[in-house]
Amino acid sequence: SRQIHLASRPTGWPTPDNFRVVEVDLGDPGPGEVLLRNTWMSVDPYMRGRMNDAKSYVPPFELGAPLDGGAVGEVVASGDDAVPVGATVLHGLGWREHAVVPARAVRVVDTERVPASAYLGVLGMPGLTAYVGLTRIAQLREGDRVLVSGAAGAVGSSVGQMARMLGASAVVGSAGSAEKVAWLTEELGFDAAVNYKDGPVGRLLAPHGPFDVYFDNVGGDHLEAAIAHLDDFGRIAACGAIAQYNDTEATPGPRNMAMFVTKKLTLRGFIVRDHDDLTAEFHERAGRWVAEGRLVGRETVVDGLDHAVDAFLDLMRGGNTGKMLVRL
Ligand code: NDP
Repeated sequence: SRQIHLASRPTGWPTPDNFRVVEVDLGDPGPGEVLLRNTWMSVDPYMRGRMNDAKSYVPPFELGAPLDGGAVGEVVASGDDAVPVGATVLHGLGWREHAVVPARAVRVVDTERVPASAYLGVLGMPGLTAYVGLTRIAQLREGDRVLVSGAAGAVGSSVGQMARMLGASAVVGSAGSAEKVAWLTEELGFDAAVNYKDGPVGRLLAPHGPFDVYFDNVGGDHLEAAIAHLDDFGRIAACGAIAQYNDTEATPGPRNMAMFVTKKLTLRGFIVRDHDDLTAEFHERAGRWVAEGRLVGRETVVDGLDHAVDAFLDLMRGGNTGKMLVRL
């Protein structure tokens, strides 16, 4: 069975040389374990941070060892009656064709009503991130005007759609191409969207503000622009800063921090896994929204483990619309 190992730590933008495909022999699952054949694996921006040897909220990937991350697999051999052969499960050992996992570390998912891949996207970690960021972190209120960056990505596209269902009066997004902007406004119901590559993002957003809530996936110039266009008592949910993940030197912060005082702004960062207590509520509501066709989880699919690294690199460059996934 094949898996992808970290061969060397990237400096700046990763290259294919930083990774290696390795063939391993997994053997049979022991008591309490299951052998999985992975069918889908996720590539996510946070994985870039784990390629660095730096202390963070998740440990770094180890050199010469397989990468890991969200995946969906089918049970092909089982040492636990609760997780039978044939079940489809969500688990944390992606970046490999097969995995032996403790049965208690997998979650059996229902694939009758939604496709298995949805558990890595709109009904999975990215969807929960959108829900937590809007409800708990930004404390979205009826009538709020919401701005979201990275709006055509997995988290951002859920943010925009959910914000509307949670009572926002207007939703504006920024994304990196004309096609993405058209998808947001024509299909997802965003009131407006801008292509940040068309000019300084602050200037592009000016006609659409002011905003009460900014959901930040990007950092950098987007954060500075949002601060400029937030209304008094505006709230920022700091979710990610993908514009900076491949930087080799610290970049200057927003130059308009004094506006936090004059506009009485709030910024709160969060990590989704600290908010597990919202998972059941999220599944209940988001499951219904998806079933009703009001929450759309688009996917960009790359085929084969051999292309998983390309999928990850392409994600960092904006090659995805919606959730970037690898089908194994
Ligand atoms: P996305 O599906 O949004 O993919 C990443 C996107 O980032 C790309 O499609 C690209 O789209 C955009 N991007 C890349 N570089 C830049 C740049 N320099 N400026 C602006 N946009 C850029 O990924 P996710 O939805 O999985 O994640 C979105 C954000 O949420 C990330 O910052 C991630 O780290 C964060 N996150 C945080 C979590 C938490 O617990 N706090 C949990 C999950 C995700 P484009 O074409 O528009 O440039």
